[in-house]
Amino acid sequence: MSKPDVEAMLASFRADLAAAADLTALDEVRRAHAGKASPLKGALKGLKALSAEEKPVFASVVNAAQEAVEAELASAKLTLEAAELERRLLSEWSDLTLPGVATPRGARHPVTQVEARCMEVLRRLGFTLVDGPEVEHPFYNFDALNIPEHHPARDMQDTFWVSGGLLLRSHTTTVQARVLEERAKDLKAGKDVLPIRVASMGRVYRNEAVDATHLAMFHQFEGIWIDKGLTFAHLKGTLAFVARALFGETRRVRFKPKFYPYTEPSVGVDVSCGVCDGAGCEACHGAGWVTILGAGMVHPKVFAQFGYDPEQVSGIAFGLGTTRMAAQTTGITKIRSLYEPDLRTLSSLHRGL
Ligand SMILES: [Zn+2]
Repeated sequence: MSKPDVEAMLASFRADLAAAADLTALDEVRRAHAGKASPLKGALKGLKALSAEEKPVFASVVNAAQEAVEAELASAKLTLEAAELERRLLSEWSDLTLPGVATPRGARHPVTQVEARCMEVLRRLGFTLVDGPEVEHPFYNFDALNIPEHHPARDMQDTFWVSGGLLLRSHTTTVQARVLEERAKDLKAGKDVLPIRVASMGRVYRNEAVDATHLAMFHQFEGIWIDKGLTFAHLKGTLAFVARALFGETRRVRFKPKFYPYTEPSVGVDVSCGVCDGAGCEACHGAGWVTILGAGMVHPKVFAQFGYDPEQVSGIAFGLGTTRMAAQTTGITKIRSLYEPDLRTLSSLHRGL
């Protein structure tokens, strides 16, 4: 067998290498001349046919050729990579002077902003925020709050019932009932639990016909303060402070008698309508006033329900509709716009906040 022509193989490799214009072509050259099926690998396999004297001489020639191929491939790769980088730098440059794509500015929902403002005011009075479930046992929604079964107040707060005899809470007062129950355990254990100053807020539900000021789901905010020696003067002082802090000095505030089963006496707090300033409009049903707060002295029966002595402790409780307040603050007439996912409406509402 004649010895393969290594010089010719190298010459063919170099011709192909010189023709390789990019990294893909270079890969093909590598496969053809340094791969398993390349002529040089074939020449090494042919060594077996040679005589003992010729073998080492020819082997070193082939090895030297292989090393030359590898070295030239590596060098060509560096050159082609540099050329590729240069090409990309020239073709993919960015014009940093062009105007960017503006990200629309977001904002918190009007109800969330009102909730934050309410809590900020109450924190100044020493209140802390507590949370409670929205799917609630009727006991905490009605019975514990002096609303026994067949009481007309249950009709006033008709809500949605779910399986297992549970309901969607019709007011956040349920959280107050839970706090009273929880702290009563400490009270029985002889601990000093007073004063209790907590606030709760969140979604509540009513089986309502939807109109300009009524929805089947809306947001409420509530506070309860229980201590020894609290009087109606504390209630008025607290409510006046809260109303002034939330609505400002320009809005007029009035108190009127109200009925709530869980407070006695009970009071409603109105502010002059922020949309019409008292003239009467759709948002205030023509009254010129909007009821913002409901409040009262905690009913002795509620205290007795949880084992507190109504002779020893008294309490003030108040709640406000944060949805209605957000509507008043933003000046919209249809509160359901607050819950419609229309960015045009929602972003326009932020002008008033
Ligand atoms: Zn009005």
